[in-house]
Amino acid sequence: NPLHDRLVGRRAGSDAVFLRLPGGETVSYAGFAARVAQFAGALAGAGLNPGDRLAAQTEKSWHALALGMACAQAGVIHLPLNTAYTEDELTYFIGDSEAAMVVCDPSRRNGLSPIAARFGAALETLDADGGGSLALAADAMPGAFDTVPRSADDLAAFLYTSGTTGRSKGAMLTQNNLLSNADALVETWRFTEADTLLHALPIFHTHGLFVATNVILAAGGSMILLPKFDIDEVIGALPGATSMMGVPTFYSRLLSDTRLDRDLVGHIRLFVSGSAPLLEETHRQWEARTGHRILERYGMTETNMNTSNPYEGERRAGTVGFPLPGVELRILDRDTGAEVPNGEIGVIEIRGPNVFKGYWRMPEKTAAELRPDGWFVTGDLGRVDGDGYLWIVGRDKDLVITGGFNVYPKEVEAALDEVPGVLETAVIGVPHPDWGEAVVAVVARVEGGVVSEDDVLRAASKLAKFKQPKTVVFRESLPRNTMGKVQKAALRGEYANLFD
Ligand code: AMP
Repeated sequence: NPLHDRLVGRRAGSDAVFLRLPGGETVSYAGFAARVAQFAGALAGAGLNPGDRLAAQTEKSWHALALGMACAQAGVIHLPLNTAYTEDELTYFIGDSEAAMVVCDPSRRNGLSPIAARFGAALETLDADGGGSLALAADAMPGAFDTVPRSADDLAAFLYTSGTTGRSKGAMLTQNNLLSNADALVETWRFTEADTLLHALPIFHTHGLFVATNVILAAGGSMILLPKFDIDEVIGALPGATSMMGVPTFYSRLLSDTRLDRDLVGHIRLFVSGSAPLLEETHRQWEARTGHRILERYGMTETNMNTSNPYEGERRAGTVGFPLPGVELRILDRDTGAEVPNGEIGVIEIRGPNVFKGYWRMPEKTAAELRPDGWFVTGDLGRVDGDGYLWIVGRDKDLVITGGFNVYPKEVEAALDEVPGVLETAVIGVPHPDWGEAVVAVVARVEGGVVSEDDVLRAASKLAKFKQPKTVVFRESLPRNTMGKVQKAALRGEYANLFD
């Protein structure tokens, strides 16, 4: 069982601190390993068998982290679920995965009980303070458990994609998918036992669950575990941390607070950003204010992390850097499928030990995106510059094709973002009788900002005519999901009839 043994088992006797909790409590590696073993005992005691799925919709807490690792130790597949999912959505995940057990917050027990019963799943509860029926069962178990043998290729987790287009798919991740990626990131980002990571991300998504937690476990460092991103708590915790991993909104929100300065982050050695594009402007402002260059990386649910800016060497704003050790990258023409020359835009494909095993019970979707020789078609568009840095120009499905020309939203957005008074922009394609699709700029202004359609169009006039927006719509803010991604599909839906 490489995942459990490497990340938890080998430090089961260590008094070193793994977690620092709000309020000053700490959890040692030994304490964490013992709690993991107790949960593993409770899972085995409830009759879960290796390969069974455990669906967990739990509040962020160290107990929920321990439950995830207990799944590994008991050979059970961990299926973490977004805390925002409704009962309707949960019905799909529980039914689709054929979960043998559902673990939820006690407050959701009544709503979930008929759903679990319908699919024959056991239902247990776990709250953020370590209470609930599963926690009680764990309390009665010994702090050691005979780890269920698993091989590197056995499944460790199902992570459902955010499903912004169509049904959410269960990405099947193996023990080695997770472990190899943690090792690659520890090496690339130089994590050691001396590190303390500020953790304010959710733990149902690859970023907070695997990238942050597994990297710290693999390095033997410690983590300040905050329940969520709360600006006061994050500012309070920064001086005690050596690193932070965040989505771009963490950085823009910190920049809007006057308490952010060089002193506050003097102790930090590394800021990492990912899950959504970091504006070049945010990168520059962050450096001006703190003296730190944010290290941006690129990954996804299906592949874990793929590329990263260098630790030493230039962290180039607007790029996601180079492939991680062991990861291969290529860029194919979206029409011909041929590899494009350096500098040209195409679909990004990834191959390596990080790439998942396929989508659960979706052989056609798997075949469409995962080639027999191991290359995964990411659906992201990008290009590699002369120095080998990868630039992401948007999702393939967000590409605008107007009058037969391809418009990459990112290029137009970058031009519009420079207009004074503009907070952020999203460029989308909207059905148009003449052009097929028309370029539309959706613009959010900074608070009190005065920006007209003319100002926006003037900024776009430096681009080729076909890339310039046909119209500009202003709105208070852009719709985002919990990981900070702008929801372009929602915007396309909303403005679909603009040119009727
Ligand atoms: P998810 O599976 O929810 O983690 O979403 C993965 C997608 O997020 C990728 O396919 C990219 O489109 C996007 N993404 C992740 N990191 C970055 C980044 N640093 N810059 C731009 N897009 C990113």
